Amino acid sequence: LNEFELIRRYFARRDPVRPDVILGIGDDAALLEVPAGRQLALATDTLVEGIHVPAGTDPASIGHKALAVNLSDLAAMGAEPAWFTLNLTLPRAEAAWLEDFARGLFDLARAQGVQLVGGDTTHGPLTVTVGACGFVPPGQALTRAGARPGDRIYVSGVLGEAGLALPMLRGQLELPEEYQAAVLERFHRPWPRVREGLALRGLASACIDISDGLLADLGHVLEQSGVGARIDLSRLPVSPAYDTVFSALGWDTALAAGDDYELCFTLPPAREQALHRAAAGFAGSLSWIGEIEAEAGLRIMDEAGRPYRPARRGYDHFAAD
Ligand SMILES: [Mg+2]
Repeated sequence: LNEFELIRRYFARRDPVRPDVILGIGDDAALLEVPAGRQLALATDTLVEGIHVPAGTDPASIGHKALAVNLSDLAAMGAEPAWFTLNLTLPRAEAAWLEDFARGLFDLARAQGVQLVGGDTTHGPLTVTVGACGFVPPGQALTRAGARPGDRIYVSGVLGEAGLALPMLRGQLELPEEYQAAVLERFHRPWPRVREGLALRGLASACIDISDGLLADLGHVLEQSGVGARIDLSRLPVSPAYDTVFSALGWDTALAAGDDYELCFTLPPAREQALHRAAAGFAGSLSWIGEIEAEAGLRIMDEAGRPYRPARRGYDHFAAD
């Protein structure tokens, strides 16, 4: 297959088709109609095989995750996803691989109503870059910079479950059989919290998606908001799978493992009631895990109210291995 046949066969003219795509794949650039009175939110993220996805990961999962992590970034901004681009670097063009990859990618695209509008394919080590665009009313985007002392800190869903997958795959962690599939699903196919992000517009004072671990990502919010925080370990939500290995892992995986793609946000206490009304439409539960404080730094309290020092701080893309 040459590049053009490959694009046509697997990526051009796929569902869904949005009326705001004036010209999609097939010209020098896409032409897109941003709705009147909306700002465009743009996010882009790269997955590299062997770094972000383990070598040998099934292609459908890679397709899903490449789009999901970008939609998660849009969700964290409170943006409504619309379009995406795909830059695919492949060691070789294999029909079976591409078919599975495209299925994982487009199943999620269809579920979220987003359309592929362009991209590029090149030859090299497996690398997938997606760029995703969405809409947000002016002034309503959720940023990392709005947290204020007294705001409560919340997370959606559970923490650390995706972080069980790699040690499990490496044979370093033994999980009961009945939880293994769900843990792998969490890791390979995170579900972007788009609906939740939209519901948080006008409510959350700051928001971020948890891609590199709670400590790292909450740390970005604290830094950009110019505040500090206290979190209580007894409030951290973990899954039943995590409970079974808690004695081996303690809290550190929930605090510092990446790939959860849940939302972490802050909320002024006066909006508590409104949040509970909005949360009725959320996929999972919400947990109140701590509070924003004026004093800089993050204070972690254990179940007995003593300061807790984690062994890991979160995923750092440039840390020495
Ligand atoms: Mg993010």
